[in-house]
Amino acid sequence: MSNEILTPDKPQEAKSASSAPPKVGFVSLGCPKNLVDSEVMMGMLQSAGAKITTHAEDADIIVVNTCSFIDTAKQESVDTILEMAGHKTGGKAKKLIVAGCLVERYRNEIQKNIPEVDAVVGTGELEKILAAAGIQASPAHASDSPFKILNASTASQSLKSGVYSDQKVGHVHARPEGDARESAGRFSRDEWDGAVHDLPNYLYDENTPRVLATPKHMAYIKIAEGCDHPCTFCIIPQLRGKFRSRRFESVIAEAESLAKRGVKEVVLIGQDTTCYGEDLGLKDGLALLLERLAQIEDLRWVRFLYAYPNKITGRLLDVMASNEKVCSYMDVPLQHASANVLKKMKRGASSDIFLKSIDKMRKTVPNLTLRTSFIVGFPGETAQDFEELCDFVQAAQFDWLGVFTYSDEEGAKAFHLDEKVPAREIERRRRKLMQLQKQISKKRRKALVGKQFDIVLEGPSQETELLWEGRTAMHAPEIDGKVFVNDFGEHQDVSEGQFFRCEITEAHEYDLVAKLL
Ligand code: SF4
Repeated sequence: MSNEILTPDKPQEAKSASSAPPKVGFVSLGCPKNLVDSEVMMGMLQSAGAKITTHAEDADIIVVNTCSFIDTAKQESVDTILEMAGHKTGGKAKKLIVAGCLVERYRNEIQKNIPEVDAVVGTGELEKILAAAGIQASPAHASDSPFKILNASTASQSLKSGVYSDQKVGHVHARPEGDARESAGRFSRDEWDGAVHDLPNYLYDENTPRVLATPKHMAYIKIAEGCDHPCTFCIIPQLRGKFRSRRFESVIAEAESLAKRGVKEVVLIGQDTTCYGEDLGLKDGLALLLERLAQIEDLRWVRFLYAYPNKITGRLLDVMASNEKVCSYMDVPLQHASANVLKKMKRGASSDIFLKSIDKMRKTVPNLTLRTSFIVGFPGETAQDFEELCDFVQAAQFDWLGVFTYSDEEGAKAFHLDEKVPAREIERRRRKLMQLQKQISKKRRKALVGKQFDIVLEGPSQETELLWEGRTAMHAPEIDGKVFVNDFGEHQDVSEGQFFRCEITEAHEYDLVAKLL
């Protein structure tokens, strides 16, 4: 078993003070959490003198930051690695590096089966990207600027020391649940050939260089990493390690830096943001964080993604209700509604408990936008369980809903459960649930016609330049439907990232049409 990054063949090819800086191209797959990891690795490389390119054919080094959440994500990761390998065998690239979740799961296989891959970097060893690329952190690229968040277009900046994170080693805090679950084997990777024994423990901080890959007006902030929950279908805890929070002040400092750079919207992310701060001894840590972030003058919107159902506290809802800048938007993946299935998933609760909780959310936070996601076809999900889920969806009337088909993951507890649902039936259930939500979505969008909202413009529509696309607080970036602007009123010179007041004039199943006021 090897846990070392492969030694680059010719490190001097990549780094030389006198030769042109190496160009690095990144492909980031999967979720926004993975995107932040890519931004951190790009920041480290750029600070060490590399140039980031968006053209794979121009790159000397290509990094594929992979996802390994479910089978389709793994397949996409492998396909992308093979596609990028083509730039090495038949193009300019000299190095191919694979990073991310796939490395945690299949470290040995990647190196053995894809000979074009020169090095691998797991989710807990982001700093090794420099060694993997054959680039040394060079004081020649240091700057006096204390600011370490870079935009892709800016020249290389700031590398004051080789230490990027205050929490990467010896993170002393832990939640008691995490420790207990570790003792019970929740994080065990013993059956994964090639996985390194130590769980990922890395967390970036406000001093870590980061190249933002998102539009200038918004940025993600990862406030926590890892997960301690026991969900039986999920291998993320094995891939990402135990739950750990970033320091409160570190998050604030990063948000302040971002705001100074023109970011207007920050989106807080983590596997479970509602546990934020528990390992630091904070009670209602997320609520406190949101309250403090809402005081940053230049920020317009603050939102968080991925709440765990029984971690949504009254204080959190109050903070959402009483701070204009905190978006009234809740993404709470419920996964199912039948008590029978939820028990097998080791998540607990029931449709009645969820309905009561949703009622409380809506009563406390007026105009709350509620998003959830479900898994259909979990082992043992009967026709009756599925009907219960449909009834629940009808009763709950979510604004946004995603449906995943169950994916049997080796290493997840559910892999060993009997009563697997046939693939065709799983797909039938997915389609039926989506069809049901389509009607709900249509009705909920229609109710918005004539109402006014703040909107941020995101640029001309991909379909036609006559339309622009935008988002309201009801729309998280890249996840929810779109708002098309077809009437700019007096505002003829608009630009990306500008906020306006708008009125909704048309509603479709998922998208809206608006005019600027
Ligand atoms: S809460 Fe459950 S589904 Fe979400 S990352 Fe943790 S273990 Fe996976």
